[in-house]
Amino acid sequence: MTQDAFDAALDPADWAAMRAIFHAAADDGLAHLAQARARPVWTRPPDAARAALAEPVPQAGQPVAAIYDTFKTHILPYGTGNVHPAFFGWALGAGTAEGVLGEMLAAFMNCNLGGWDQIAADLERQVIDWCRQMTGFPAGSSGLLTSGTSLGTLIALAVAREAATAGEIGEYGVAAAGSGLVGYASTEAHGCFAKAFATLGLGRAHLRRVPVDADHRLDCAALEAMIAADRARGLRPFCAIATCGTINTGAIDDLARVADICARARLWFHVDAAFGVGALLTAAHRARAAPLARADSIAFDFHKWFQVPYDAGIVLIRDAAAHRAAFAAPADYLAPAARGLAAGAPWFCDYGPELSRSFRALKIWFTFKAHGLSGLSAMIEKNCRQAQFLADLIAANAPRLALLAPVNLNIVCFRYVPADGSDADALNAEIVADLQEQGIAAPSLTTLSGRTAIRVCLVNHRTRAADLERLVEATLALGAAREAAARA
Ligand SMILES: *Cc1c(COP(=O)(O)O)cnc(C)c1O
Repeated sequence: MTQDAFDAALDPADWAAMRAIFHAAADDGLAHLAQARARPVWTRPPDAARAALAEPVPQAGQPVAAIYDTFKTHILPYGTGNVHPAFFGWALGAGTAEGVLGEMLAAFMNCNLGGWDQIAADLERQVIDWCRQMTGFPAGSSGLLTSGTSLGTLIALAVAREAATAGEIGEYGVAAAGSGLVGYASTEAHGCFAKAFATLGLGRAHLRRVPVDADHRLDCAALEAMIAADRARGLRPFCAIATCGTINTGAIDDLARVADICARARLWFHVDAAFGVGALLTAAHRARAAPLARADSIAFDFHKWFQVPYDAGIVLIRDAAAHRAAFAAPADYLAPAARGLAAGAPWFCDYGPELSRSFRALKIWFTFKAHGLSGLSAMIEKNCRQAQFLADLIAANAPRLALLAPVNLNIVCFRYVPADGSDADALNAEIVADLQEQGIAAPSLTTLSGRTAIRVCLVNHRTRAADLERLVEATLALGAAREAAARA
């Protein structure tokens, strides 16, 4: 081997040329945000783009300028569309320029947040502490930044499971610890709980689904009765889950009452506040959300209502020792040191399943410092007012439009009602697909009490009143056109 080959690296041969590509990329990326409104909300990736990307693993390297061109032509225009002001589906945040800056700079530093004595770990601790302050979780509670609420949920329920069995399942497995652990969540709880129960070996069937009241909130009396019935059967109830902001309708369970029930029954109390944590930043909804401070664990997202670019969530656990006990896995090659790079204990890798972890704190830190809680709360309050505004528009267009659930927070579920009494479920599914495919707006669909609903979840800081007016006009026009076509 030549000396040149020994000393080769992957750095650019021409840093100036690389700088030019970065500058162009920053310009294109910022234009993508600044001009989002001028584009269709969503464009299905065309066959040509898919074909252009399909290739065998590259053997030879290619010039980065050409790769960037491919990105700009075939990738950049065909995302989910959630940076667009008329994206209303599921619960996808819109992101901010400051968040992008944090994401990019984190990649420059290329830190691994599994552990080590590094400033990035201090920044993660700082962000976790901000979350304690926002939620009222005590000093001494522990936390971990995650890819989202699904992973936060998995971690919280793993800790709850270990706490309930004195670590026996972690050590000897589910079979040794005996079966019979059961948990509770409402029928409106997110799908991540069933996934977590399956993944943790508890079994989806052992996640009991508690009925909800007319406002889609967990029925507390039913919860108590179900716990008692399971105990009478010799089962071992170990946790109850409440939701602050359900995915279908934004309902906030009676958190204080579930906390009381858990305290009496000695159950782990987990709160899913994925986007609903934002309620803490509103005058109108703060009181209903505040009792989440009584939970044993909470998981929520930064990438939804806090507008941090994907992905970023957090889990907070009241009992830090229990949190660590569930995940700490001593290893010779990771032994902590008193000084040097291997100092900085405790390490984040002892609080979750992952060793290698990205520097998520930086984009959260940029976003929170740039906008402050006041800026973020102004957007959250705006979205809540917009939900009421949309509900009023729907009421004004009765009987063609009908609201299908009370507006609790930031979610509006409604539907187009055909004049001739024909199948509204199929019609509304078509309307939503039309809205998306025509690039007008991107609501999503759900089913409420067996009825297909157009679901608008407002976690988008770019949305304006005119976007909602356009959604209503387009829904009426598309519904009428499909009805006319069906009659013809
Ligand atoms: C989005 C969401 C989840 C899942 O969170 P991810 O960050 O997507 O993993 C869980 N619960 C609720 C209520 C949600 O809105």
